Amino acid sequence: MPNVVVVGTQWGDEGKGKVVDVLSRHVGAVVRFQGGNNAGHTLVVGGEQVILHLLPSGVLRSGCVNVIGNGVVVDPRVLLDEIDALERRGQPVGPGQLVLSVGAHVIMPYHLVLDRLREEAKGHRRIGTTCRGIGPTYEDKVARRGIVVADLLDPARLAERVEEILPEKNRMITEWFGGDALDAGQIVADYTAMGQRLAGYAGDTVGLLHRLQREGRGILFEGAQGTFLDVDHGTYPFVTSSNTVAGAACAGTGVGPTAIQEVVGIAKAYTTRVGSGPFPTEAHGDMGERLRVSGGEFGATTGRPRRCGWFDAALVRQAVRINGITRLALTKLDVLSGLDAIPVCVGYDGQGDAFPATLDEARPVFEELPGWKADIRGCRSLDELPAECLRYVARLEELVGVPVELVSVGPGREETIVRGDLFTR
Ligand code: GDP
Repeated sequence: MPNVVVVGTQWGDEGKGKVVDVLSRHVGAVVRFQGGNNAGHTLVVGGEQVILHLLPSGVLRSGCVNVIGNGVVVDPRVLLDEIDALERRGQPVGPGQLVLSVGAHVIMPYHLVLDRLREEAKGHRRIGTTCRGIGPTYEDKVARRGIVVADLLDPARLAERVEEILPEKNRMITEWFGGDALDAGQIVADYTAMGQRLAGYAGDTVGLLHRLQREGRGILFEGAQGTFLDVDHGTYPFVTSSNTVAGAACAGTGVGPTAIQEVVGIAKAYTTRVGSGPFPTEAHGDMGERLRVSGGEFGATTGRPRRCGWFDAALVRQAVRINGITRLALTKLDVLSGLDAIPVCVGYDGQGDAFPATLDEARPVFEELPGWKADIRGCRSLDELPAECLRYVARLEELVGVPVELVSVGPGREETIVRGDLFTR
């Protein structure tokens, strides 16, 4: 099995969980390399739905090592809650099954407080952050005042770091935002206790990944969010605070670029975006609502309705370039069943093959493809799909320039059509 990076090609929520699930059967390790508990992969365990926000998706497969790389920011409380929830379901996570990088940055209570206070203060200019402290933690990482997992394992060091950092945070919380100051002693006590519980999982993930590589076990790098939420390549400032593109898999884990053989891009058969920011193919009114309802496009944790629109080939083509995507997985094709005609954006007016520096003024050029009436959720091979549906997939492939090797026609594991050696091995 080659080493593979899986990334979202749009604004996240593309259905990465299911594709990662299909691929994780064949690998020795599933690795998270960026983001924090703002991801949300939906998995099914014994008929029950489990949403993992921080744990890599391979945690439910025996023999699979799950790695939280140095590029991830970790809320220890959330991580322990997820471990406990799986244990209650009879799926305990053993130390050999999960390895947490000692270099990963830790989300501290002041990050959570500041994230919320800042977002509230923005009023209608909100970015739409999930307020889980992820942005402020990345800020502190770059400002070299972060706390890493290794610090949690050393109470004296943790106390020293908190004493050093907290006064400035408390000043900001109380004087700028009018909030309540946090207590250093309490933070140190709480985080030392959580550090003790996590100690068995913390380790040298760089060494581990290199050993797995030598053994040829296959590593799956599981991206969170999507390409256009990337802090460099996304629709700034309406982005997340990490690099979400495939290249981040290297920096976020300590594996070199030459060790990665495949990059799988996940694209929804239409487009959605959460929160503010430009969205050229957004469908307003009834059509937007139709996609939202049939696609169940409401945030997994917040219940917030997602903005919905048509497939944007210019966007996904750009994602292919930025990530070096070699294969595509197309998800939620079933959601489009029943439409008379389906608009697809083939490019932006006046842009030719170039991608504009900002999407604010991008005017999509649409082509209409014929829709199909049949329910396709029962289809298990491409030749069972209605001719119009096949034509839709083929046209997207042509516009984006990469083969579609997995088509998802429903949320279930079995509601999947695969072709190509990567998914069928
Ligand atoms: P992620 O944020 O990209 O990891 O997205 P998830 O893996 O959590 O998927 C988002 C939602 O879409 C989940 O509720 C999935 O069950 C659902 N889903 C995934 N693929 C399909 C599909 O092909 N059709 C339909 N109808 N739902 C899907």
